[in-house]
Amino acid sequence: MDAPLEKTEELTSASTDSKERYLGSVRFFKHMILSVNALLILLPIVFLIIALYKNSILQAAYACLKTEYEDYVLQTAEQQKEQFAMLQNEDRREVSFVSDKDETQPLPEEDELRIPFYVDLNAWNYLLVNEMHPLSQDFELKLVDTRNGKQVDGRIKYSLEKMLDAAKEYGMELIICSAYRGYEKQQELLNESIEKYMGKGLNYESAFFQAKRQLERVGCSEHHTGLAVDIVGEHYQSLDAGQANTAEARWLAEHAHEYGFILRYPKDKEKITRLEFESWHFRYVGTEAAGFMKEHNLCFEEFLELAQKQQEMGYKQEIPEDSAYRVDGQETNGH
Ligand SMILES: [Zn+2]
Repeated sequence: MDAPLEKTEELTSASTDSKERYLGSVRFFKHMILSVNALLILLPIVFLIIALYKNSILQAAYACLKTEYEDYVLQTAEQQKEQFAMLQNEDRREVSFVSDKDETQPLPEEDELRIPFYVDLNAWNYLLVNEMHPLSQDFELKLVDTRNGKQVDGRIKYSLEKMLDAAKEYGMELIICSAYRGYEKQQELLNESIEKYMGKGLNYESAFFQAKRQLERVGCSEHHTGLAVDIVGEHYQSLDAGQANTAEARWLAEHAHEYGFILRYPKDKEKITRLEFESWHFRYVGTEAAGFMKEHNLCFEEFLELAQKQQEMGYKQEIPEDSAYRVDGQETNGH
């Protein structure tokens, strides 16, 4: 009875023994070594494959960038060549070689009117005063007396008297009937004018607008600057339409620019100046500007707009060394 039992025990212990024997056997260690070897061989291969794969992606990307870069270089070289050829052969004005920003602002056309001298838009002689441009609160001026006791800016006295003297040589006596005007005087004149129109039956509003066709509001009159004068002939001193027909008015219209004065409110510019034609109102701007405006039939607003446009477009107005640009009144500055 004992024998079979022992056999079963033997069998069970034999299978456990064989497991234990395998784990501790030489075969097991051989298998282990083989597996480790296999891993040692396989892993580098896997890494190599990954590396190659990754490398190819990098290379492809690099190749892509390189091609694009080369294309770009070639393209810009081609463009540069084209631009250079244009510069050499074509009209320079068509090629913008300053910067991209300037390309949006074409340079003036050949036939476009250009001011050939320097215009400093902040200079005293280019001071614009009208309904849209009231005089600034801190405006200062140095007034001097004219021969007949009116007051003007000291810097225009010399030119003004030169003009009066020149007219005298033609046998004409020019009279300055109005020059510098303070704010109170302007208000007084405006009120008088309004009353005159109200006396003709207009209501205040209509009378005010009628008056404004001949007189600027307080602060908007050129007479506040001391740079403007009303001039009439001795034989006809009314400031009305008849004044334009006098020999004196005609002489002034023809020659004032030679002394740096402009007819400030011309007949054909009423829509721009917003003031009725005044054959007697002259404004000092300097001989070059006055001559240019006379030559090209521009009023002051048009001239300043043109100067500003040219400066914005980058059209340089250099002062040539031998320029005739002189503000005549400078000699009497501060007197
Ligand atoms: Zn005036």
